[in-house]
Amino acid sequence: MTVRTRADLASIPGYVPGRSVPGAVKLASNEVSLGPLPSVVAAIAEAAGQVNRYPDSGAAELVAALSARLDVPGSHVSVGCGSVTLCQQLIQATCTAEDEVVFPWRSFEAYPIITQVVGAQQVRVPLTPGHALDVDAMVAAITPRTRLVFVCTPNNPTGTALTAAELDRFIAAAPADALVVIDEAYREFVDDESVPDGVELAKAAWAAGRDNVAVLRTFSKAYGLAGLRVGYLVAPPAVIEVVRKVFVPFGVNALAQAAALASLRAEDELLARCRDIVAERTRVRTELLALGYDVPPTQANFVWLPLADRTQAFNEHCMEHKLVVRAFPGDGARVTISTPEENDLFLEAARTFPRN
Ligand code: PMP
Repeated sequence: MTVRTRADLASIPGYVPGRSVPGAVKLASNEVSLGPLPSVVAAIAEAAGQVNRYPDSGAAELVAALSARLDVPGSHVSVGCGSVTLCQQLIQATCTAEDEVVFPWRSFEAYPIITQVVGAQQVRVPLTPGHALDVDAMVAAITPRTRLVFVCTPNNPTGTALTAAELDRFIAAAPADALVVIDEAYREFVDDESVPDGVELAKAAWAAGRDNVAVLRTFSKAYGLAGLRVGYLVAPPAVIEVVRKVFVPFGVNALAQAAALASLRAEDELLARCRDIVAERTRVRTELLALGYDVPPTQANFVWLPLADRTQAFNEHCMEHKLVVRAFPGDGARVTISTPEENDLFLEAARTFPRN
């Protein structure tokens, strides 16, 4: 007799994280390459002296700091153990077995996995031929069973972002009982002024009486805290309340809370780092285009190479150059923008890749 587990879990592929290979440069997980600032390390060290105590389960100080930073009441903010955990909490809080979660595809790999884990129905909407979210098709995919729509902008892994007009169209078309979740994990790397700040857009929607818009952000990318796991949700109070009911107690640990607070205090310095990455992004994309690669315009800290059936060969070629990129076989490769030196290593690999 073996332990009986959920039969429907057998078909779930499991999340495949970007690999770390000793001796190779990792450009596979959209992390920043520089370590935390000294002030952030000091805050982590100070918090480490009290880890005999449980952390503040509601992360009140961090919620207050985010609320001040974003100019929203604290009742509109919840933090989670990475924004991926908040994605899961949102599905748990809104969906039962027949309910649908609409999301673009290809996009963040956790959307289909956590939808299945929670036991809801996934509705994948293909990207446009230009590798962008297909707003019309996503809106058309919404049914009375839709409880949640993930709008990933900039989209992981293609980097494309929606304009204010596109997002407005989305929000106007979504029924009031389906929550539109703008996933802005890469917001801090956006430099195109036609791409709106999701939090500002959500605030305008709430002011207009639309309580079905929420925004997800993370400290993992621009703030360089991927290893500590902390992200946040900005949403109407009714959503925050129910999301807080489905959390794992003490999920955001004390070091993560201290580091996130210290990162907000050092935000100017961290955002300056992001601007360096954005400048490198322009350089890398320009060179790739000159080499003849198709690279969609990207507003994130990575580029997408839609190499189709050459993806696996490209992946292996990069490994030979001691570079770990993120390959989605048959589709494309995503490569994180890093320091100028590491980006040069990648460009050299791209230059020497036999194209056919
Ligand atoms: N959303 C998107 C679009 C992402 O790419 C990621 C990380 N890859 C996340 C959410 C989750 O990030 P984290 O859990 O580290 O906050």
